[in-house]
Amino acid sequence: MPNLRLANLIDGRLVAPRADRWLDVHEPATGEVFAHCPDSDADDVAEAVAAAQRAAPAWANTPIEQRASLLNRLAELIEQDLDAFAALESRDSGKPLALARNLDIPRAVSNLRYFAAAIQGWDSQSHAMALGQPDSGAINYTLRQPLGVVGCISPWNLPLYLFTWKIAPALAAGNAVVAKPSEVTPCTAARLAGLSIQAGFPPGVLNIVQGRGPGVGQPLVEHPGVKAISFTGSTATGAAIAAAAAPRFKKVSLEMGGKNPAIVFDDADLSDANLDTIVRSGFANQGEICLCGSRLLVQRSIYERFRERYLERVQRLVVGDPQDGSTHLGALVSQAHFDKVMRCIAEAREVGATVLCGGEAVQPPGRCAHGWFVAPTVFEGLSNASTAHQTEIFGPVVGLIPFEDEAEAIALANDSRYGLAASVWTQDLSRAHRVAAALEFGIVWTNCWLLRDLRTPFGGVKHSGMGREGGTEALAFVTEPKNICIRY
Ligand code: NAD
Repeated sequence: MPNLRLANLIDGRLVAPRADRWLDVHEPATGEVFAHCPDSDADDVAEAVAAAQRAAPAWANTPIEQRASLLNRLAELIEQDLDAFAALESRDSGKPLALARNLDIPRAVSNLRYFAAAIQGWDSQSHAMALGQPDSGAINYTLRQPLGVVGCISPWNLPLYLFTWKIAPALAAGNAVVAKPSEVTPCTAARLAGLSIQAGFPPGVLNIVQGRGPGVGQPLVEHPGVKAISFTGSTATGAAIAAAAAPRFKKVSLEMGGKNPAIVFDDADLSDANLDTIVRSGFANQGEICLCGSRLLVQRSIYERFRERYLERVQRLVVGDPQDGSTHLGALVSQAHFDKVMRCIAEAREVGATVLCGGEAVQPPGRCAHGWFVAPTVFEGLSNASTAHQTEIFGPVVGLIPFEDEAEAIALANDSRYGLAASVWTQDLSRAHRVAAALEFGIVWTNCWLLRDLRTPFGGVKHSGMGREGGTEALAFVTEPKNICIRY
């Protein structure tokens, strides 16, 4: 089969990059090139922003019901095409096909539907003022207007899931969008581009420019016509975006890295189902989820017994061909990322970590023999201050840390430059509330993990994030509140 050739979506048309430069896209499970993605540049970005600027006023004045119905139509088209989207997502990212089919693509559909509904139920405030006379007063009301053109930049780990999470609120609120998917996993956004034309979005309302960070992301952030940037990716890139946006006074929403603790108290209900969730929280999507709990803090009184049961489950995880239904962990997304994860494991060993399981690359037989697979790895023996516990490895690597009591658990969990998500396992309700309040994280799950209600604020603190996505937080970000005061 010839390699796929992806296109940009600019002004309602699927187009090649102006400079005709292309990037290879690899299938992580085999290491082979299977697609070519536009290696766009500032000229393509300028053309997309100009198209978005032309489209924005009419889109802002399009009735909400009509905008919502286009988002719902796009959701419907993706849902009808779910199998093809899931196969493409799995091939592009290395994640198990079952995960793409059950999580990534359905969630992309839900994102579009959620914001189609949310915008129709969104209201704004009014504030009445008394001015001391019975027949005189004033009323303030808040007019929430779209910003104009919004830039959306997304990462490779949950490609369509996070891409739609960004474009849906921006479009629903009446903004035109220029979006940049990750160059590592560009395929499903390119497929969505075609469906957005079919759904009937007016030209220029949604533009998708494919390419690398410096070639596309940076010019998008710097373009004076782009009023806000919604970014998800690494903390290093987030810092560069924040620095570029600051002197331009752009709104930025930054969702960045994490080094999340999972805290297991000795009163936790460690049923098989809960243990499975704790294992999943470390290894789902090969550990390539920003919310994965890679620091596993376990109360010392149950440490050894827990470790035994945990390891036994981790060792049962199957690493293999993402297309195989029995596979739990597919391939890591790229050669560079595989190298980074293997280096982190080697460095942890060098400073004294005991690797309890995994720690090596895996070569599945057959077509995946040259893919980028890593065995689920669990280590212990390093302090929370070690590099392995302080750096985001973003792979199938979990470190165990024992703690004595609640105070130490909280101190260890908070001793991180990151603050994205934590999970707490306890049956003591008072402790659950106390610990959740004390944790310096944007999200705390208790006795669960990755349970998501799209209405809730989503994001991190410290080096994990600035701003929140989800629900009305996302709609607030992509609109400007204007106070109008009328005296009578
Ligand atoms: P990355 O920062 O390398 O890339 C993210 C996006 O930014 C890509 O589209 C990339 O091309 C673009 N980019 C790169 N340099 C840029 C620049 N100078 N200006 C503008 N855009 C630029 O991140 P990644 O490796 O794709 O993703 C993994 C990271 O994402 C991890 O750190 C993970 O924790 C984080 N992440 C966070 C969340 C969250 O919600 N907090 C969710 C998923 C992933």
